[in-house]
Amino acid sequence: MTETPMQKRGDSFEQDQFLTILSREDALARFEAALFPRAIASERRPLSDALGQALADDVVAPIDVPPFDRSNVDGFAVRSADLALAGESTPVRFVLNDEIIACGTAPMLPVAPGTATSIATGGPVPRGADAIVMVEHTQPAGERVIEIRRAASPGQFVSYAGSDIARGETLLRAGTVIGSREIGMLAACGIAEVSVARRPRIAVISTGDELVQPGLKLRPAAIYDTNGAIVTAAIRENGGEPIFFGAIPDVEHELESIMRKALDDCDMLVLSGGTSKGTGDVSHRIIARLGKPGIIAHGVALKPGKPLCLAVCDGKPVVILPGFPTSAMFTFHDMIVPVLRRMAGLPPRSDAKVTAKVPVRIASEMGRTEFVMVSLVEGADDLIAYPSGKGSGAITSFAQADGFLKIEALADQMPAGTETEVTLFTPHVRVPDLVIVGSHCTGLDLVTAPLARSGLLVRSISIGSLGGLAAARRGECDLAPIHLFDEASESYNTPFLVDGLELVPGWRRMQGIVFRPGDTRFQGLTAQDAVRAALADPACIMVNRNQGAGTRILIDRMLGSARPDGYWNQPRSHNAVAAAVAQNRADWGMTIAPVAHAAGLGFIPLAEEHYDFALVAARKQRPAVQAFLAALASDESRAALAQAGFRPVEA
Ligand code: AMP
Ligand code: MG
Repeated sequence: MTETPMQKRGDSFEQDQFLTILSREDALARFEAALFPRAIASERRPLSDALGQALADDVVAPIDVPPFDRSNVDGFAVRSADLALAGESTPVRFVLNDEIIACGTAPMLPVAPGTATSIATGGPVPRGADAIVMVEHTQPAGERVIEIRRAASPGQFVSYAGSDIARGETLLRAGTVIGSREIGMLAACGIAEVSVARRPRIAVISTGDELVQPGLKLRPAAIYDTNGAIVTAAIRENGGEPIFFGAIPDVEHELESIMRKALDDCDMLVLSGGTSKGTGDVSHRIIARLGKPGIIAHGVALKPGKPLCLAVCDGKPVVILPGFPTSAMFTFHDMIVPVLRRMAGLPPRSDAKVTAKVPVRIASEMGRTEFVMVSLVEGADDLIAYPSGKGSGAITSFAQADGFLKIEALADQMPAGTETEVTLFTPHVRVPDLVIVGSHCTGLDLVTAPLARSGLLVRSISIGSLGGLAAARRGECDLAPIHLFDEASESYNTPFLVDGLELVPGWRRMQGIVFRPGDTRFQGLTAQDAVRAALADPACIMVNRNQGAGTRILIDRMLGSARPDGYWNQPRSHNAVAAAVAQNRADWGMTIAPVAHAAGLGFIPLAEEHYDFALVAARKQRPAVQAFLAALASDESRAALAQAGFRPVEA
């Protein structure tokens, strides 16, 4: 291993650590070259405990299976030669021997010519007999005598010893991953313990002063440690044995002693966080002291995941994943899983893939391999892959996405209409029964709840009213929830419909100004006066909404040409507006009444807006759409909507 430019610069890379960025392929190749080939440690495991592990050695069958010639049916063991002349009009009579061979009974008496022995399925074939006649093909013919009217070929209904598994045969090859079928074969041979590749022990450390373990109370400005749980689970999914060391604050000496201990105990060390240029980011400096050759790549042309750091310290891989959970998860799966599986003796992961079309252009940074999570929906002719529009810090995009697509490093975009390969997160694609694309509202969950309970898969993709309308026009969804005000006609939604779309009335939501209770600047005012008061106070900060949101249109109408402090803070949801005001980041904003009340904020009603659905007429007869329309009209969801602070439209 030659020194990388990164190592030569030593401490100076504090300033420019990402100047030497390796391509994804290059980084992985160097990482693997520094680790393989290597011996795979093996261990003996009881069969019941070996599931999912790779066999370390070939397994040779120690016995024949079945161990004796065995009857396949309930019937009579006979000599087939006795039946040579048997036929419909020429029955042959047999005298029954004085035993019944049940399963697990060793036969005592031979079958002499002209005799037969009663035998059960699984019973050992007695000496002399070479065929079994099914009981259905025999008739009783007096005391201890039967009659048979058909011929039998030698070997009929007999499974010979070793016909399934022959003693000395290689039953399973080294490297075979043990599943229930393999366990069955081993058990059939009486094998209770096997040699398997030992699960690599992988130390997991989360780093960051802000991290709290799930289950404990969240301090102000703290977040829950998500990566610890993700990485631990992903290690287990890929044949490793995770050992979690907790979340360690960014204190260099403390972190170093834990990293040293973890590396002593384990075969590999996976950290997350602290890999970028932040002042508190110390783990990569520690790695440089842990062993040779040290850091192999720090900065990989991946998106998400650029700050990934790969190292090998005295033969053991040491990895720092980016802090953002989605980035951590992608880099782990893309760059670490291949190495982990090789160490565990497992074959490369085989993910299911489908071809789908992207409906919109996806911009991409030139020079970085980009992974984009997508939700799959059924279009008119093909599968459509919607990019999930959340940032790299969003963990739920994983749950809402069906898989991801890859944009090669050399492309600066993926044009709308591109057919591309989507790697699925699950073994099979599950196309949703009902697709709702547009503006999000918490009321929507109340209406779709009964659909979900009846087993329908509902997918709602929040991309704002205008994005929803565009998707509906392209026929990529069933319904587009919208709340768009038309200035000219002073009416909601209807003016925005085009041919092929029908309006389904939804509910009314009171939009209004939110502020912290007790803020005398706003208490008791009308919405217009409240905005006037806010604009008059230069210390007052607002929180806006994103372009394309119906709420944004209302805000812009109220503000006219004014651009107060906070105008450029444009979150994408009602809840974010409430959080900004509740946490004192902003003093006022506009959101809907149910969200304001849930956050305990003051609320000045402004206008009731119409939250309706643009229904794609061509999809109206689909059962899931009909189920949605029924749910929308039901007393149950109308009551739930009213309870949550919405006003269902008069039936
Ligand atoms: P860092 O690389 O440490 O600067 O982290 C980048 C971002 O990821 C910050 O917002 C961190 O709070 C966040 N982060 C780091 N580690 C974790 C973790 N274990 N769980 C959730 N978020 C994290
Ligand atoms: Mg950190």
